[in-house]
Amino acid sequence: MDSLISTKESNGNFTTKSAYFVARTCHGLGGEESTGSTPNEDKKFMWKALWRAKVPGKVKLCVWRGCMNAIPSMVNLKTRRVILEDICGFCHKEAETVEHALLQCPRSAAIWFGSPLGIHTFQGIEDGFSGWLINMAKQVSSESFELLLVLVWSVWKVRNDVLWNEIVCSPMDVHLKAQTWLAEFKKWNVAKAPAVLVREVNWKHPDFGWIKCNFDAAWEENSACGGCGVVIRNATGGFMAALVSREKGIGLAMHAEAAAAKTAAMFLQQWSEAKVHLDGDALLVVAAIQNKGSALHGHLGNLFQDTRRLLQRFEHWRVSFGPRESNRVAHRLARWSLMLNHPISWFEEPPDVINDLLIEDSLQI
Ligand SMILES: [Zn+2]
Repeated sequence: MDSLISTKESNGNFTTKSAYFVARTCHGLGGEESTGSTPNEDKKFMWKALWRAKVPGKVKLCVWRGCMNAIPSMVNLKTRRVILEDICGFCHKEAETVEHALLQCPRSAAIWFGSPLGIHTFQGIEDGFSGWLINMAKQVSSESFELLLVLVWSVWKVRNDVLWNEIVCSPMDVHLKAQTWLAEFKKWNVAKAPAVLVREVNWKHPDFGWIKCNFDAAWEENSACGGCGVVIRNATGGFMAALVSREKGIGLAMHAEAAAAKTAAMFLQQWSEAKVHLDGDALLVVAAIQNKGSALHGHLGNLFQDTRRLLQRFEHWRVSFGPRESNRVAHRLARWSLMLNHPISWFEEPPDVINDLLIEDSLQI
């Protein structure tokens, strides 16, 4: 869709860089830059916060367009004579301005309030979307501001998904997905990647007649929380079930991995007749479960023994080590679990947040 203000690179692409250039130019258009007036200072501060934020470029672009009243809300489309009615397609009560679409519509407000930021977006919109963003940039930490930016993008995307593609997503799914996406983006883009060639190793389908259960753990040192992600697939790579859960009082990464293995083995008990293949990327944990006369004692040793006993209930079972690249679905679920208060499981229909990886794995891309 076109924007009201569009600036293109010579190759026709609308990029963050060109958006930045326009943002700067627009800012200068008022000719007030040198007066140092407070609203102007505020705007400068907000633009800086926006362009410095560690979020994907398309998020910055979307937020920037929101600030410039340049996203195609119903009101903007009506102004451009694209449509005749500007009423909101969700609440059917108010004209859909940019502010209404991104913040005030009950659909959007539910996402904002339910998010970790817990923002009431019914109030504080007197100065429009950009005024609201300025206030937020001044109030919240840079991490929260980054999540806020991703949420703006998510709210707009979900609005379009429902309106044009009839894809519905619950408010909780929206903000959990936003958090996971942001965490993934930071992991791969913000931390410096080592300059070595990484050999891609794909997830492998289980043998015919077997089901494969991938598990992974995440660990948060500060809160001593361990997260667990489990995904079960059949021999054609089809999704069967997934589980995420979080446990407190986990003081070691290894402990989180051991607990995740046990959780996976417990989850598997529902398929008591199946031939089960447990697969994880924690070499020591896998070795400890495989090793009958485990040399490990204490709490960890017990966890490994419990896991082994749970697996021994199956007539056919195996446990193997797979490299990280083959364990991406479980890894993402584990990261996600750290943001949850309750365990969640899915059967037959996977959560949105892993759909892309499931497809890639089943096609072995
Ligand atoms: Zn509405």
